[in-house]
Amino acid sequence: MSFQLDRLVRENIRRLRPYSSARSEFAGDAEVFLDANENAFGSPVGNGLNRYPDPLQMALKARIAELRRVGTDQVFIGNGSDEAVDLLFRIFCRPGVDNVITCPPTYGMYEVSAGINDIAVNHAPLNADFGLNAESMLAAVGENTKLVFVCSPNNPTGNLMDTSSVTDILQHFPAIVVIDEAYIDFAATPSWADRICDFPNLIVLQTLSKAWGLAGLRVGTAFADANIIALMNKVKPPYNVSRVSQELALTALENTDWLTQTVTETVSERKKLEQQLNALSFVQTVYPSDANFLLVRVSDAAATYRRLIAERIVVRDRSKVELCEGCLRITIGTAAENQLLMEALRNYETSIIY
Ligand SMILES: *Cc1c(COP(=O)(O)O)cnc(C)c1O
Repeated sequence: MSFQLDRLVRENIRRLRPYSSARSEFAGDAEVFLDANENAFGSPVGNGLNRYPDPLQMALKARIAELRRVGTDQVFIGNGSDEAVDLLFRIFCRPGVDNVITCPPTYGMYEVSAGINDIAVNHAPLNADFGLNAESMLAAVGENTKLVFVCSPNNPTGNLMDTSSVTDILQHFPAIVVIDEAYIDFAATPSWADRICDFPNLIVLQTLSKAWGLAGLRVGTAFADANIIALMNKVKPPYNVSRVSQELALTALENTDWLTQTVTETVSERKKLEQQLNALSFVQTVYPSDANFLLVRVSDAAATYRRLIAERIVVRDRSKVELCEGCLRITIGTAAENQLLMEALRNYETSIIY
């Protein structure tokens, strides 16, 4: 397969002259900054917040590049990885003309972002074991297919997609392959970000929202060939990641021990919860998980969900989702939270009349 990035990019994006912000026109050191119409007197909360943030987040990017062992020009940082998804639609997909492929059951934002951008979605459903169906994926490819979304570990099923089918798709898919690795830190496997130099059509999405515990900060990343990253930088809003987010993310990323510890704890709680759930009579299947949640098939999902709500415990009802009939998705909580969950479920079990 010969991959030509230029042929996939929308004509208007190729021609676009990006906004040139004050901070990108002069990024050097000076004494007096009177170029950006900022408030020179400060801000009510101090912290240098009267100044615009670095549009290209170079300090944070350097740290992320170091952690993932890639170049800074192979890293994009967005306001959550949802921003990256939306940018990819706007860079590659012509509204009303192009289409993308998703592999349901999977993360709902791909479809929503497609809808917002007026892009058709072709479905290539996962197999019964939630693995990729390479044949149906290739069958879903149309003339104007621009992106395929692969989520690994997948939300809501929790499993990793196997390396050989992903490799197969990367080699044979004629457009961009987006691998969403929001949960990769919980999985004992290398990131596809290690392979961006091998596949010019690969984009890997990650986020600080899950294992790094920073969902409230809104920082997501994309790793790809420098040419793709340059397009994302061209289209993004100039100051898409706030100064607060950049600084706090940088501080957080110094603490890799924290990540290791929280992942270890989550995985150990996940194993415990998996065993305990399996002992309940109304639980039919606890699917294997490489993430921080479990997909659980129960005999009556709606009733189980309602019962938990009555006990002030919220899980995600996925029972209306294709291939997830009867399933709840349960995030791994702290040991104390999981214990409350199990108590509620055991009480429910004894109340069921067979
Ligand atoms: C949670 C999640 C994300 C995270 O999105 P952010 O915008 O970075 O918070 C991305 N992809 C999947 C599959 C998720 O489950």
